Amino acid sequence: MGDIVGKAVLVREDLNVPMKDGVVSDDTRLRAAVPTINELSDRGAKVLVLSHFGRPKAPTPEFSLAQIAEPLSQVLGRPVRYIDWEGDKEAVATLRPGDIAVLENTRFFGGEEKNDPAVVKRFAAVGDLYVNDAFSAAHRAHASTEGIAHVLPAFAGRAMEAELDALQKALGAPEHPVAAVVGGAKVSSKLDVLTHLVTKVDHLIIGGGMANTFLAARGVDVGKSLCEHDLTDTAEAILEAAAAANCTVHLPYDVVVAKEFAANPPTRTVNVHEVAADEMILDVGPAAVEALADVLKICRTLVWNGPMGAFEIPPFDAATVALAKTAAALTREGSLVSVAGGGDTVAALNHAGVAGDFSFVSTAGGAFLEWMEGKELPGVKALMG
Ligand code: ADP
Ligand code: MG
Repeated sequence: MGDIVGKAVLVREDLNVPMKDGVVSDDTRLRAAVPTINELSDRGAKVLVLSHFGRPKAPTPEFSLAQIAEPLSQVLGRPVRYIDWEGDKEAVATLRPGDIAVLENTRFFGGEEKNDPAVVKRFAAVGDLYVNDAFSAAHRAHASTEGIAHVLPAFAGRAMEAELDALQKALGAPEHPVAAVVGGAKVSSKLDVLTHLVTKVDHLIIGGGMANTFLAARGVDVGKSLCEHDLTDTAEAILEAAAAANCTVHLPYDVVVAKEFAANPPTRTVNVHEVAADEMILDVGPAAVEALADVLKICRTLVWNGPMGAFEIPPFDAATVALAKTAAALTREGSLVSVAGGGDTVAALNHAGVAGDFSFVSTAGGAFLEWMEGKELPGVKALMG
C-alpha cells in the first residue's frame, strides 16, 4: 500500500449494527472495524468509511449512518465525522491526515445493489485507495463491495484478512482429518453446503432438524419431527456422494424426543427406531454425542455451522452445548483448529460459553454459508485482481 499520508482511503466496513430505541444493541461489527480504521488513521490517511445500513427503500433518517458516527467514535476512541453524499467532495477536502469520517449509507443510491458503474464512479471520486474490510458483505457484488475494487487500487483490511486466513485454515488447506458439523433446521437451506463438504471433509456430522430428513431417507420413522420428506432422495444422493468421496457421515443413533415444542416438557431419550408417531426429535442423544466427541478427538480441523438441536429451548440445548464444549477443550489443548459461523450457531456457542475458545467464530452469516458452499465471493475475488 506504501505511503498513504494525506491519501483519502475508502474503507468498506459492515456498520449494519442492530439498533434498539436509537441505541446500538450489539456493537460486534463496530469493534471488528477498529484495527483497520485506526491503523489507516495512524498512518496518516484520511479515512472515509463506507457501509450499507438496513434495507432502505428511500433515504430516510431511520437508515442514516449519521446515527452511527458517535457509537463508532466510542469504540475507536477517536472523533468520527459524518459526511453526506451532498457536498461530500467539499467536506472531504476539509479533512486532515488521520481524520476519520463515515459517509452516508451506500444503499441511499439505488444503483449500489445493482453495481451500477455510475455509482461506482460516484464512490471512487472521493477516494484515492480502496480497502475492503467487510467479509460479511463480500458475497454481494455491489458497487461498494465489488465494483469499486476494479476502479481504485484495492486492498484487504485487517478483519477481512483474519477472516480469510481462518477460512483458509479450515477448508482451503486444512490439516486432516477434517470434521464438519452441520445442523440447523432444514436440509433445503444447506443443500449446497452439504454437497460441497462431502468432497472436502473426512467426517460429516449431521445434526439438528436436517438430520431427520437423512434418517427418513434411511427408512427411519421420524414421527412428527421437522422433516423434509420431499428431500429424502436428495439426502440419499448426498449420502452416496459422501461414500464415493470417502467421507464418513455421522447421523444420530439416539435422540431426545417430546410431544410438544415447549420449555422443559416431558422427554424421552430413545434409539432413532423407537420414535413414536406423535413425537418430535428435538435433540441428538447423549450416546451419539459421546461418539461424536470421540470423532472430534481424532480430528485436527473442525468447521461448524448449525446447532445440533432446538437449542433455544431447554433441555434441547444439551447436545449442542456438550459438543461445543468438547470442541472448545480440544482447541484450547491445541489439537484442533475450530472455525464456526452462522447466526444461530454463534448464538448457540455464546449460550454454551465457549465462543471465545474456538479458533475463529465468523459473524458473517450469508457470506460464511456461501464460503461453506465452496463459492467464490465476488468481494474477495475483486481484491485478488
Ligand atoms: P445458522 O443460523 O447457524 O445457520 P440455522 O438457521 O440453519 O442455523 O438453524 C437454527 C435453527 O434450527 C434453530 O432455530 C433451531 O431451533 C433449529 N433446530 C435445530 N434442531 C432442530 C430440531 N431437531 N427440530 C426443529 N428445529 C431444530
Ligand atoms: Mg439461522
